[in-house]
Amino acid sequence: MLVVQKYGGTSVATIERITNVARRVIEYKKRGDGLVIVVSAMSGETDRLLGLAHAIGKFPDEREVDVLISTGEQVTSALLAITLKETGYDAVSVLGHQVPIVTDSVFGKARISDIDETKIRTELASGRVVVVPGFQGVDESGNITTLGRGGSDTTAVAVAAALKADVCEIYTDVDGVYTTDPNITAKARRLDRISYDEMLEMASLGAKVLQIRSVEMAKKYKVPLLVKSSLVEGKGTLVCEEVPDMEQVVVSGVTYNKNEAKVTVNGVPDRPGVATRIFTTLADANIVIDMIVQNVSHDRKTDITFTLGKADAKKAQKIMEGLAIEVGAVTVEVDERIAKVSIVGLGMRSHAGIAAKMFALLFNEGINIEMISTSEIKISCVIDQKYGELAVRALHTGFGLDAEEDVQEEQ
Ligand code: ADP
Ligand code: ASP
Ligand code: MG
Repeated sequence: MLVVQKYGGTSVATIERITNVARRVIEYKKRGDGLVIVVSAMSGETDRLLGLAHAIGKFPDEREVDVLISTGEQVTSALLAITLKETGYDAVSVLGHQVPIVTDSVFGKARISDIDETKIRTELASGRVVVVPGFQGVDESGNITTLGRGGSDTTAVAVAAALKADVCEIYTDVDGVYTTDPNITAKARRLDRISYDEMLEMASLGAKVLQIRSVEMAKKYKVPLLVKSSLVEGKGTLVCEEVPDMEQVVVSGVTYNKNEAKVTVNGVPDRPGVATRIFTTLADANIVIDMIVQNVSHDRKTDITFTLGKADAKKAQKIMEGLAIEVGAVTVEVDERIAKVSIVGLGMRSHAGIAAKMFALLFNEGINIEMISTSEIKISCVIDQKYGELAVRALHTGFGLDAEEDVQEEQ
């Protein structure tokens, strides 16, 4: 078997944890598997490095930030290779530019365009465990790039797809994908399986257990993904193609995202071309927009509200303030204290009344809904961040997702 394993930040947080990773790698090696190990930086390291850059200036040079933050993964790759060699197993670290993992040039959120698997295959053929740092790539001009927060998942899936590996195992600090973040409610339940589509929605709506790009890629190249804990044994969760009985559950998960901000542009002239102008300018600055709401116009003026990643809020505010003058809008407001709660499920495609039930459950908790967006298999509401976790628990219980033991305990 050819296995790609990815270990997240908490799984490589200390030398002891790295030794623990090496132990598992060796178990697989003894079975005769070919192994490519993708590692994240030690937990907290990427934040620490970003903090250093931001201590120098508000908008540090994006190319240099990538040079800086890609180092965390380089450290853990070398440490794992050293540990394996100390234990008598041949291993080699192959950095992003050495593979190479080629990306576009969007620093901080680059997308992989190509992986040359020759070097990895040669190393595997000589019996070595190959250790690849996650999160990093190289653009056509040789600049180091990074793949966005949580990007090591994407490195792992991309490498697995390029090598046509039998499985891609994602080792993290929880023992699988749950009906909601198990750190928010103890009533969350581990799922044995989840479809790519549901996982895609969960990831894009805030379940950071897998980076969204990694799920997109797994779906596209049909890479079976197994999410497991590096700390405790267990079956984990298989992310795979839809199986028929999955449809029986209407809502399969609840997600929570507090990493978005809401921007409102008030008094926008209601004439053709203004929305294009606003959203083209934001797109040109590589700012990804999530929800958009435009109010009914009064006196030929309207308000446009949209949400985007908090990390882009200051950049967007600056752009919008400039643009407001140009298009004749009145004010720009940014609210960073929002949360987006969502319900996800394939079964929603064929059931009526799910949105109404969601709104009622939030209303019962006295929670005001600021924005709504729906798709075939999800409904999202933007609310005040202080009610975020309360909303998740209410929806999780209301849609019958609570783990059975806990339900019995309550009776
Ligand atoms: P890693 O460092 O291993 O990449 P992350 O912190 O990125 O780990 O992702 C794991 C975390 O994802 C968990 O600790 C958990 O808090 C969070 N999470 C959010 N939603 C879910 C979910 N539905 N199922 C499992 N974990 C989730
Ligand atoms: N170290 C990077 C981050 O913290 C990438 C990753 O861990 O997946 O976002
Ligand atoms: Mg992660």
